Amino acid sequence: MTQSTAPTPHQLRRCPSCRKDVLHGWVDCIHCGAILPPAISGDWGSQVPVYQTGTTTPGLVGFILSLLWLGGIGSIIGICLGISGRREVDRSGGLVGGRGLATAAMWIGWAGIVIPVLLLFAIATAALSSGA
Ligand SMILES: [Zn+2]
Repeated sequence: MTQSTAPTPHQLRRCPSCRKDVLHGWVDCIHCGAILPPAISGDWGSQVPVYQTGTTTPGLVGFILSLLWLGGIGSIIGICLGISGRREVDRSGGLVGGRGLATAAMWIGWAGIVIPVLLLFAIATAALSSGA
């Protein structure tokens, strides 16, 4: 890629047939002769998915739910949303933040499941050993 001599990116789009850069106004490709789709947006043909900037919504909701716990249901949903939130942040290429929040949602979610189970196990063990 020669960045210095290339036209500005918003004037270019990509031919779906030969994957070469073509200008927005063109109706057919000069490289391969393919008919180009109407130029609706400068983003079509781009390999990067378009996301809204900001914090990952699944990560944020998962974080809140994992804190609420809700008898373990919030923890399970928090883990799932934490995983999808991290995936969203990774795929956004830096547009979406909140990876730490999504990671926290996962860990708090896991803690919300593991800690009650361990407590129940400890209580059951203590009850069995003292009762026998
Ligand atoms: Zn072409």
